[in-house]
Amino acid sequence: MERTLLLIKPDGLQRGLAGRILARFEDKGLQILALKVMRMTPELAGRHYAAHREKPFYKGLVSYMTSSPLVAAVLEGPRAVETTRRLMGATFGWKAEPGTIRGDFSNSTSYNLVHGSDSPESAEKEIALFFRPEEIAAYERTSDRWLISEDD
Ligand code: UDP
Ligand code: MG
Repeated sequence: MERTLLLIKPDGLQRGLAGRILARFEDKGLQILALKVMRMTPELAGRHYAAHREKPFYKGLVSYMTSSPLVAAVLEGPRAVETTRRLMGATFGWKAEPGTIRGDFSNSTSYNLVHGSDSPESAEKEIALFFRPEEIAAYERTSDRWLISEDD
């Protein structure tokens, strides 16, 4: 089992897409372990996007991510990091495949609705930035019996 951090970015919440976006991950069988609406501070944005600090789009990215509240979630499942990224689609909404969240709902370069951790290592770090351990609920889900086989 693997965990990942999902963010429904401010455009997703403002456009009323949070429920539909979250449903895609639930439909796929990923389990929601933690969920909250919060405002990203510039300090948190700096830590979360530290790898992009030197990029030309960094200033705009921080301004976008801190402009309005977002939804943060911890998702769990087999290969949760990769599965989440595949459901999200390519970074640029205008380039992302139809059928993906970005491909279906975004036609922008930067306003692309969702963030998902890019590796299990970044997932661990990012989850710790957004959630205290006691905010993450580990629980048995009866449907897992039919979602995951012993061969998975
Ligand atoms: N971004 C942007 N312009 C770019 C590249 C990225 O505005 O040329 C924004 C976009 O919102 C993206 C975020 O910066 O989601 C982080 O970029 P990254 O390359 O990590 O893409 P992601 O992992 O989100 O697909
Ligand atoms: Mg990234």
